[in-house]
Amino acid sequence: MSLYRKTFPVGALGCNCTLIADTESKEALVVDPGDDFDYIWSLIREESLDVKAIVHTHAHIDHIGATAELAEATKAKTYLHPDDTFLHQILAEQAQMIGLPTPKSGPIDGALSDDSSFKFGEYELGVLHTPGHTPGSVCFCLENHDLCFSGDTLFSGSIGRTDLWGGDFALIEKSIKERLYTMNGAVEVIPGHGPNTHIDVERRSNPFVHL
Ligand SMILES: [Zn+2]
Ligand SMILES: [Zn+2]
Repeated sequence: MSLYRKTFPVGALGCNCTLIADTESKEALVVDPGDDFDYIWSLIREESLDVKAIVHTHAHIDHIGATAELAEATKAKTYLHPDDTFLHQILAEQAQMIGLPTPKSGPIDGALSDDSSFKFGEYELGVLHTPGHTPGSVCFCLENHDLCFSGDTLFSGSIGRTDLWGGDFALIEKSIKERLYTMNGAVEVIPGHGPNTHIDVERRSNPFVHL
């Protein structure tokens, strides 16, 4: 069994979007298609991937802006934690705030819930509810592969802002301490923006949340 993974920044805010797939079955997931539908779709066709689900770490526009177009093209189902539904409903307001055109909006098909998971080929991506940056923020962990997609909860040397709709510093601190810093230190973290890091590095030196 082998894994295909490609992470690349999309849109004006450089959200890290990831395509992850089982190279044998070609079953794939898309994490945070925030923008640049044409590029994401071209990669999917190039690799002949069969996208099973489009999943979101949270519903800020830079993570969900290309979802409606991608769902239409791939016929994949879309998933979001229900505590972020209110943000999905104000995409136009979010776009206005950062001076971007309002993206197409489409339905969300399913609810992400804590400790649930998505199978793709031989692999499984688990869901951890980690509120704080937004009420419905989640992280995704690739079971048995020491890989975690932390969204805007944890960054290399930083954490997500908590001054936007529904943000809460006490909650993000608790999420990071109890759900992320308790992981194996070798776990590679792929944040929603910027470079990768590892759990042991952040546990030791993150200036915003320490044990
Ligand atoms: Zn965000
Ligand atoms: Zn973001």
